[in-house]
Amino acid sequence: MLHRRRRIAVVPGDGIGPEVIAVGLQLLEAINHHLQLNLEVVMKDWGATLWLQEGIGLPAGALDDLSANYDAIYFGALGDPRIPDMAHGKEILLGIRQGLDLFVNMRPVKLLDESLGILKNKQKIDFVVMRENTEDLYTFIGGNFKKGTMDEVAIDQSVHTRKGVERIIRYAFEYAQENKCQKVTLGDKSNAISFGGSLWQRVFKEVSREYPSIKADHLFVDVMAMEMVCHPGRFDVIVTSNLFGDILTDLGAGLVGGLGMSASANIYPGKIGLFEPVHGSAPDIAGKKQANPIAALLTAGMMLDFLSVPGVLLAIEQAVILAITNQEVTPDLGGLQTTSEVGQFVIRETIRCLLGE
Ligand code: ATP
Repeated sequence: MLHRRRRIAVVPGDGIGPEVIAVGLQLLEAINHHLQLNLEVVMKDWGATLWLQEGIGLPAGALDDLSANYDAIYFGALGDPRIPDMAHGKEILLGIRQGLDLFVNMRPVKLLDESLGILKNKQKIDFVVMRENTEDLYTFIGGNFKKGTMDEVAIDQSVHTRKGVERIIRYAFEYAQENKCQKVTLGDKSNAISFGGSLWQRVFKEVSREYPSIKADHLFVDVMAMEMVCHPGRFDVIVTSNLFGDILTDLGAGLVGGLGMSASANIYPGKIGLFEPVHGSAPDIAGKKQANPIAALLTAGMMLDFLSVPGVLLAIEQAVILAITNQEVTPDLGGLQTTSEVGQFVIRETIRCLLGE
């Protein structure tokens, strides 16, 4: 079957970003070849080097180009010790998230192999966090008063809009319905953060009534963090605001093998999506061939899933499980393999699985 052409913009970025994305691209190439997907990849050199050499973060016209000419963005990581305030990262990554209104940040928390679990209780861990991706403290509204003095005041505003809260909650319920999940759990801090908390509470109750077959559950976010550790098996879909989601998903990554295992998607349903591993540029291990590529490989699988290519994500997961059981893993998972060696193993096993071998 000849598939319609799908264009993917690839932003390897900084630090270990290019190392893990190189492996991800080899996986995409192999899948493209075997399944004849008609994928076209276009490289973008956005990142610290372009910023430092030419003062360019997100080039003029990039957002229009992305939304008009691409189906997805495959993203590595941004972050460089030479740019301590991450100014380029804010312009590029937050610029894309905000500019393309990618309001869903979806982060699966799935323990693929028991050996990676750190909890004594050995519960099944398989849930997904839907983090609101465009509001809250990440609108950078605020300022300083008497900056640099002993009387300094610093204010960051947490913004929650009716539209923003409703669409992420609705997406969480839609996802739950489509994926036969039983429950959506809201994580908020409405007992202490009155105005935004109340909005999340009211909208959650309202939207949940439209989905009577899905249980609507609620936890204060501090209790939710504890429950993710004590009873992770109770969660199906979590929906939460931007800052809480940021923190909870790193906790989630810790439960399933660390940052090298966690994939994520930034989505505006029906439009373009940006797919990136949860980890950052990890300058401490950049250039040492130690970066775990599994997060980037699972991310590529999520991207193909989003592009309506069925079965690939599952095949990648099976290959990753095999890599873990065979100790074909990088040092963060206790192995001795390099980024590229792990990549070759997972790519080979993914293709085998897809071809039914
Ligand atoms: P940034 O500023 O870009 O977010 P960071 O080092 O502060 O970078 P992360 O890159 O998210 O934050 O990583 C935190 C630590 O986790 C790293 O120092 C690194 O040791 C480890 N780590 C992250 N990603 C990976 C990976 N893919 N493989 C192995 N270790 C990783």
